[in-house]
Amino acid sequence: RAKTEGRDTYRYFEASMGAAARDKRVMEHELRQAVARKEFYLVYQPQKEISSGRMVGFEALIRWRHPTRGDVPPTIFIPIAEDSGAIGQIGEWVLTAACEEAARWENPLTVAVNVSAVQLHNPSFSRKVHETLLNSGLAPGRLELEITETALVKDMPRALATLRQVKALGVRVAMDDFGTGYSSLSNLRAFPFDKIKIDGSFIKSVDKNGQVAAIVRAVLGLGRGLGLPVLAEGVETLGELKFLDAEACEIGQGYYIGRPGLIEEFGELTGVDAPSVSNDTAGQRNRS
Ligand code: C2E
Ligand code: MG
Ligand code: MG
Ligand code: MG
Repeated sequence: RAKTEGRDTYRYFEASMGAAARDKRVMEHELRQAVARKEFYLVYQPQKEISSGRMVGFEALIRWRHPTRGDVPPTIFIPIAEDSGAIGQIGEWVLTAACEEAARWENPLTVAVNVSAVQLHNPSFSRKVHETLLNSGLAPGRLELEITETALVKDMPRALATLRQVKALGVRVAMDDFGTGYSSLSNLRAFPFDKIKIDGSFIKSVDKNGQVAAIVRAVLGLGRGLGLPVLAEGVETLGELKFLDAEACEIGQGYYIGRPGLIEEFGELTGVDAPSVSNDTAGQRNRS
C-alpha cells in the first residue's frame, strides 16, 4: 500500500514536471552513457599572437553528436553534466583526448582545456592531470587549463590548493571569461593565473563603442601591471582585431582569427598531415 502510494506520488510528480525538467532528466541519463558510446568529439580553435599573427595554440572545445537530437551545444549540456555529476567522466575524456592529440603535433603548440568547477574541486584532479600528462607524453608546459571565476568561488581554499598542485606540475592556468563573473580583482590576486582571457562580450564592437573600449583598455592595463598576458576572446572583425593590436593585446581568438574545426583541418599549423587513424567517427562529423 505504501509502495503503491509512493509510486503514484512519483508519477503525479512526473506529470506535473515541465517538459524542460523532463528533458533535463533524459539528458542527464544520456550524458552518463555518451562517453562509452563515443558520442563526444573535440574541435580546436586557433589562438594567435596579435602583433605577428603567429600561431600559439588551440583551445579544445567539446561537441556532442547526439544520435537523434544532432549536435547539442556545450552551453546546454555542460551545466546539466555538472549538476548530475557526469562532468567528472566527461572532463577526464576531454583532458585525455586533448593531451593525446596535442602530443601528436610536430609543432609544440599549447592546448587549452576547459575545466569545470566540479572537476576543480575533486581532490584527485591534479593527480589525474599528472597521470594524463605521463600517459600521453605531452610536455606539461604545453597544457593550459581554462578556469572560470564561478569555478573558484564554491570552495576557494580547495580551488587554490588544486591550482597550486597543477602549477607545480608545470601546467599553466588561464582565467576564462574574465569580466563576466564576480570579485574578479580579488580572484586575480588570490589565484596563481598565468593568463587572462577577456570574455567575448567585451570584444564585440570594441572598436566602435567607447564604454567597451574603456573596459578592455583597463583589463589590458591590469594584465600589464600583474605581468599576465591577455587573450581577447570572440574576435569577429578586422576592426576589433586592429583595435586590440593598437592596444597591444597579446593574443586573440575568434571567428575572424580562426573558427573551431576538426584538428585534421589544421594540418599546416600542427605539422601533422596524415589524418588521425584512431578517429573512427571522423566521417560522420561536420565542422563546428
Ligand atoms: P569558452 O571556454 O569561453 O569558449 C569560447 C566559446 O566561444 C566557444 O563556444 C567558441 O566556439 C565560441 N567562439 C569562439 N570564437 C567566437 C566568436 O568569434 N564569436 C562568438 N560569438 N563565439 C565564438 P562553445 O564551443 O559553444 O563553448 C561554449 C562554452 O562551453 C565554453 O566557453 C566553455 O565554457 C564550455 N565548454 C566547451 N567545451 C568544454 C569542455 O570540454 N569542458 C567544459 N567543462 N566546458 C566546455
Ligand atoms: Mg574556454
Ligand atoms: Mg571564454
Ligand atoms: Mg564561455
